Amino acid sequence: MEAMSNPLPALRIGHGYDLHRLEAVAPQGAGRPFVLGGARFDHPLGPVGHSDGDAVYHAVVDALLGALGRPDIGQAFPDTDPAWDGQDSAYFVERARSEVAAAGFGVVNLDITVICERPKLSPRKGEMIANVARLLGIGVDQVNLKGKTHEKVDAVGEGRAVEVHVVALLAKR
Ligand code: MG
Repeated sequence: MEAMSNPLPALRIGHGYDLHRLEAVAPQGAGRPFVLGGARFDHPLGPVGHSDGDAVYHAVVDALLGALGRPDIGQAFPDTDPAWDGQDSAYFVERARSEVAAAGFGVVNLDITVICERPKLSPRKGEMIANVARLLGIGVDQVNLKGKTHEKVDAVGEGRAVEVHVVALLAKR
């Protein structure tokens, strides 16, 4: 076969999704302190999860692993493993960064959508973007984060869960 004269660019796209149920923070309930994108929020409810329950970091990891064609965060770091109990999810993002680098790719950009009724995210947006950028060794201009509500309907809209979508684009170095 004739060699392709116009090869496709070495780009990979990945989508990450995560949802955590929110419950009263322990000891009243099973919730952990509310942390999102590495920002700690003062909120009576928090995510139920095996690690620290940071849905932004988890969805970022899944987007990066997805772009590489790898299994998701649950397979890489099983919630049956006591080692990850209460784990700061920044560690998972750092691990995903290493996987991306080891595969010879770099992050072009990330687009993060957080769907959460409460607490209000907008005052902490810059902090969450800076945290993700720092962990991945990229610029803040390569990370976008949008906060939305679920219009008071369903579990997310009733404030009983937080949901995150992330799209990541990687390019071969
Ligand atoms: Mg999660």
